[in-house]
Amino acid sequence: DINRLTRLSEFAWRIEPVNGMRVPVIIYADEALISEMDEKVAEQAANVTKLPGIIGACYAMPDAHWGYGFPIGGVAAFDALQGGVVSAGGVGFDISCGVRTLYTGLKREQIEPLKTVLADALYATVPVGVGSRGKIRLSPTEMDEMLTGGAEWAVKQGYGRPEDLERIEERGRMAGARPEAVSSHAKERQRAEMGTLGSGNHYLEIQEVSEIYDPAIAAAFGLAQGDVVVTIHCGSRGLGHQIGTDFLKRMQGAAAQYGIALPDRELACAPIESPVGQEYLGAMRAAINCALANRQIITHLTRKVFAEILPEARLDLLYDVSHNTCKVEEHLVQGRKKLVYVHRKGATRAFGPGHPDLPMVFRETGQPVLIGGSMGTASYILAGTADSETLSFASACHGAGRAMSRHQAVRTWSGREVVDQLAARGIIVRSPSWRGVAEEAPGAYKDVHDVVIAADRAGLARLVAQVKPIVCIKG
Ligand code: 5GP
Ligand code: MN
Ligand code: MN
Repeated sequence: DINRLTRLSEFAWRIEPVNGMRVPVIIYADEALISEMDEKVAEQAANVTKLPGIIGACYAMPDAHWGYGFPIGGVAAFDALQGGVVSAGGVGFDISCGVRTLYTGLKREQIEPLKTVLADALYATVPVGVGSRGKIRLSPTEMDEMLTGGAEWAVKQGYGRPEDLERIEERGRMAGARPEAVSSHAKERQRAEMGTLGSGNHYLEIQEVSEIYDPAIAAAFGLAQGDVVVTIHCGSRGLGHQIGTDFLKRMQGAAAQYGIALPDRELACAPIESPVGQEYLGAMRAAINCALANRQIITHLTRKVFAEILPEARLDLLYDVSHNTCKVEEHLVQGRKKLVYVHRKGATRAFGPGHPDLPMVFRETGQPVLIGGSMGTASYILAGTADSETLSFASACHGAGRAMSRHQAVRTWSGREVVDQLAARGIIVRSPSWRGVAEEAPGAYKDVHDVVIAADRAGLARLVAQVKPIVCIKG
């Protein structure tokens, strides 16, 4: 209900705290995005503000849409000292789903004659699709090592290069993981899924830098017009999903036990300091490591493919960002620095210039913020801003966001038609599922350009470069 919204600026809207809301809701969007935004976003965000210990506001990013309990594109921070909670639904099922981009060091003209060969080789090498299995099988000890070691573990196993780690959030290894808090069922589901892309929205894309908006930051990021990059989007596969499922159930019990009134059953949560809360955080951090290791292994597979077809390709890492996490971070709250538990669900961390957690290469620019579009439109690279600290606990959008349900998309397009139309535009798509392609048709997403413009103008992150797809390997 748009009438409940007060307009703060051209790109920000507010819902006052009423009826048990502890803090306001702030939505970042322009007028067109807000009027088309899923009505559930405001309702779900308002419900989140009723949870104990929430601070500041519940924020919705310009790509926000309905999610399980919390909206996707939602950010909420909680204070452990004020009875704050942690919620599995506030992180999402695909824990640490995220995006990484690699430089090839090549130009469009060098890729063009080989794009079909590359598409076929990547499709043959990187396992994709529902329940796809990789070649790696981890023993129980190795599983635990992976869950505590993340991408650092993967590099030690020979998947990738030590210098990759510097360019991954948490330097490739999330501290505080507790493999013993991960159920054996979750580990079992992951046994054959290391180094697999997964289904649907996950992708491996060869892209061309098609536009530069901020030449100085683009240069600092090592990006120039016509450069070819590779982007990988995937998460923690079966393991993360099972942890989400396990703890959702346990948090429903915990919420009742601690007398937390849930405005919606799907907002199941537990006090941060409770045993269930602590176990979830430990398991979730293990899943973050699983996702980091997974993207690292897929990077290794990608490098192998390029080494055979275009050995001059560098495939150095630009950066790896996650968009489904809960992290303990220091933020300014009413003028004072405080440790808070920031849930980002379908939202990208967007630390600005000078942030001490950033590697030196990004200290002056802010971190790269990697935003997916669709297989038929552009995607974007932004940079974190100093302003995002007070605007959104240093967070930005993570994609275009769905405009249409998967079900509706399947009724609107056929997968074959989508692939043919993209091929006619020079974009090669490989996917095991026609249905999956239809669900992910470019028209099922919001206009990603509008979304990133809103993020830029609202001050959440700065537009740096646009990339366009050449090859898309689709789950
Ligand atoms: P999610 O993590 O919410 O599943 O997806 C993140 C974003 O990725 C979506 O909002 C969408 O904009 C984008 N996306 C989905 N499929 C593709 C694709 O095949 N290629 C690109 N470049 N982006 C995609
Ligand atoms: Mn994702
Ligand atoms: Mn995902």
